[in-house]
Amino acid sequence: MISNPNDPSLQSWVPTPPDSDFPIQNLPFGIATRLADDRPFAASIIGDQIIDLHSLARLDAFHGIALPDGIFAHPDLNPFIALGRSVTRQVRERISEILRVGTVHDKFREQQREWLIPGSAVRHLLPVSIGDYTDFYSSLEHATNVGSMFRDPSNPLLPNWKHLPVGYHGRSSSIRVSGHSFPRPHGQLKPQDGPPEYGPSRMVDFELEMGFIIGKGTQLGETISTEQAEEHIFGLALFNDWSARDIQRWEYVPLGPFLGKNFASTLAPWIVTMDALEPFRTTGPEQDVPVLPYLQTEGPKTYDIALDVLIQPAGGQPSRVCQSNFKYLYWNMCQQLAHHTVNGCDMRTGDLLASGTISGPTPDSFGSMMELCWGGTKTVTLADGETRKSIQDGDTVIMRGSCVKDGVRIGFGDCAATVLPANS
Ligand code: CA
Repeated sequence: MISNPNDPSLQSWVPTPPDSDFPIQNLPFGIATRLADDRPFAASIIGDQIIDLHSLARLDAFHGIALPDGIFAHPDLNPFIALGRSVTRQVRERISEILRVGTVHDKFREQQREWLIPGSAVRHLLPVSIGDYTDFYSSLEHATNVGSMFRDPSNPLLPNWKHLPVGYHGRSSSIRVSGHSFPRPHGQLKPQDGPPEYGPSRMVDFELEMGFIIGKGTQLGETISTEQAEEHIFGLALFNDWSARDIQRWEYVPLGPFLGKNFASTLAPWIVTMDALEPFRTTGPEQDVPVLPYLQTEGPKTYDIALDVLIQPAGGQPSRVCQSNFKYLYWNMCQQLAHHTVNGCDMRTGDLLASGTISGPTPDSFGSMMELCWGGTKTVTLADGETRKSIQDGDTVIMRGSCVKDGVRIGFGDCAATVLPANS
């Protein structure tokens, strides 16, 4: 009786406010624990109710789907998403069937106290164990802005930029799930005149990014073509690749980013599946330089995901400082993954590949403070009249994403973290 879980006409018996990120058409995946105990479980969410998939599985809700015992009791989603998209798709379809009005799975509704938990009664954990984190640099507007500010405004892009999706290997140990806080990082800072100094960064910045998570991995030596790429991508999650611009500026030329980037990164708690995003598929920007055959793609390969960044000072209101969209990215995920593996580099389940800062064409769509304030020559004004050129102690940066079509709105949940004063 499976009908399309993305059908806009589907209604759930779980009340879902119209502005919720999590209607029945979404059903993302994450890892949570009840506040009352520390036992992690794989979770989904509808409205503000958390779905405990381990408890559902113990009620035999996933009968007929090839799932190993205890698959939803791991501290991360890795063993589940390693099963590949055909299995994870069946699980999402079954959850949808159980939650919809007129369900044939009435007994699960009757037993809802065992597996449906108020969102306020759980804590989120990092949804996947991330072995490797790769950061691309795939926004033409971002690369142009950065190149204009720090290189040459008349020739901002390096010669390779439109021929391959530029990226670097990041660090996964300092990635935390949304809701965390971290101290302002220390490092080497180089004043305009004079020798380098050691001290707390004065230029902490956010980077608005979307990460994608590898489901099925590959062996060393194997490649993933642009046609195969979507089968290896489990889903997408909002990602803030925090940066310390003053540390970065002094350390990174001519090598890749290091301490200016690896002190903290924030991942949203929910991974929105590729299947849930299907209705929002769209075409990216025209690529005006021909690419090599291994990077060619056909048809719409990106998604229309509106993105917001808000800054909330300690004790204050959140103010939106940026509105961007995932579809602005010049390079799509299929090209990124094909390029990443073209040399035989193996992908492992749970690897995080992030887009790079997602800036759009207008100044209010720039995805970092460095661009919004154009290298410190402008300020951003918050709702209470305070101004910012960078993120201050006590500020919480909140990223949000949503897709809207045919009366359905699916969202990504908040990706939020707070900068604390530097350790003394
Ligand atoms: Ca980045």
